[in-house]
Amino acid sequence: MKLSVYKKAFLYQVLTIAYMILPFALAVFFTENGIRFNNEWLISLGVLWFLGFVAFNILRLFLFKCPECDLNIFYNYTPHLLFNVFHNLPYKKCTKCGYDHTKA
Ligand SMILES: [Zn+2]
Repeated sequence: MKLSVYKKAFLYQVLTIAYMILPFALAVFFTENGIRFNNEWLISLGVLWFLGFVAFNILRLFLFKCPECDLNIFYNYTPHLLFNVFHNLPYKKCTKCGYDHTKA
């Protein structure tokens, strides 16, 4: 099974959301089970988690490109005063050349 660039980018974003939920899920799990950590340990984990989160978001700027024109598939190329930025979800159609990203 060959995944399209759109599917890959979408799954990557699902993974990112799972990563964002992870500390909250762990906090609930530890609280429910009476597991305690000291603050220094928790702050270090939080810093590590945040660096991972930044890495996730920087990597997606390089990993998912339009096969036709190499533009990032999260990027809206259409000139706009305020919102000419990276979108949270990948575009199905390239905003520069119109290539269909859902094609495998
Ligand atoms: Zn393109």
